[in-house]
Amino acid sequence: MDKRNLNIAVIGAGVIGSSVAKELQKELRNSNITVIADAFHEDTASCVAAGIFRPGPSFKGPTREITKQWIDYSWNYWSKIMNSSDAAQAGIMPLPVYIFSKTNYHVTRNHLIEDLVPVYRECDVDELKMCGKGWKYGSYYLTLKIECDKYLPWNEVLFKQNGGKILKQKVESFSSLKDYNLVFNCTGMGSKYLCNDHDLVPIRGQVIKVNAPWLKTSFYGDYDTYVIPGMDGNATLGGCRQYDSYNMEVDKYDSASIWERCCDLVPSLKKAKVIGHKVGLRPHRVPVRVEREVMHGLSVVHCYGHGGYGVMVAPGTAKTAVQIAVDALKRNSQSKL
Ligand SMILES: Cc1cc2nc3c(=O)[nH]c(=O)nc-3n(C[C@H](O)[C@H](O)[C@H](O)COP(=O)(O)OP(=O)(O)OC[C@H]3O[C@@H](n4cnc5c(N)ncnc54)[C@H](O)[C@@H]3O)c2cc1C
Repeated sequence: MDKRNLNIAVIGAGVIGSSVAKELQKELRNSNITVIADAFHEDTASCVAAGIFRPGPSFKGPTREITKQWIDYSWNYWSKIMNSSDAAQAGIMPLPVYIFSKTNYHVTRNHLIEDLVPVYRECDVDELKMCGKGWKYGSYYLTLKIECDKYLPWNEVLFKQNGGKILKQKVESFSSLKDYNLVFNCTGMGSKYLCNDHDLVPIRGQVIKVNAPWLKTSFYGDYDTYVIPGMDGNATLGGCRQYDSYNMEVDKYDSASIWERCCDLVPSLKKAKVIGHKVGLRPHRVPVRVEREVMHGLSVVHCYGHGGYGVMVAPGTAKTAVQIAVDALKRNSQSKL
């Protein structure tokens, strides 16, 4: 296997492209890696996310085992940074969470992480009264949070220090990438057009960013209501999940609903200063697509369709995507795959 002088393109600079580029620099050290994207940092869906490590039960890889491997690997990856001196710069912080429901016990459980996080337990009677009346079920757990507005620039600096290149450009077709030996497709919702993938559906989300430095704990209620504190005293209030909606405009009715539901859950938020409103499209696909395909004679490894869980699980899927390429390289002695 000759790994030298490989020209590799990673299309997409959200959390998935960024994670794949980092993993590539580890596994294929002598190759030339270029990240190509038409949007960076705060203009990506990744920067709309609060970035909580909490998979929904609907999150699915190709098998249950692989799904769990992705989640477990990612937890260890993020924990390692969180426990290092880089944590603040990389935007990783620990997060205690209460999740309540008035109607359904299962909403408060999470079979994908209960055995992974250091604490996951049912709430006692007093805790069920913390956020007003009527909460019948509740769990408390300790997780972590990744803030992409810090993580993406931090990762980009390391990528460039290790010789990586960055190109701002829209890719119209994989056929325009003939100069590369290997391409990673990490375009999130962009794959709808690049791959004509009918299984990829947007789930629209809207959030309110506020300044509320007194908040140290995250609270979830019914109907996608969540309050997630972050670094710098800021917090994310959500939310909504609108299937098959491409609307990127801030909707004033969604804002009003989010504000009312979050203030009902955590009344001290009425004193919080609103910083802004954000909209993003979750690239939803079942299963998440991590596989190799030869397109226009070019070896393309896809890594997209992470829905509402791409930030937390990015390191795990990036590792698999790069491993798929390394295995293909091993099968083929020529540097052109
Ligand atoms: C409101 C909301 C809340 C969320 N909360 C969480 C959470 O708490 N935890 C969590 O884990 N996840 C959360 N998510 C989901 C998470 O944001 C996504 O799963 C993740 O950002 C997907 O990352 P990505 O890199 O695939 O996509 P993106 O961040 O959208 O990046 C795609 C990249 O591809 C580029 N691109 C696309 N098409 C082309 C093209 N043709 N040519 C060149 N470049 C192209 C774009 O410019 C961009 O750089 C949330 C999402 C939303 C909307």
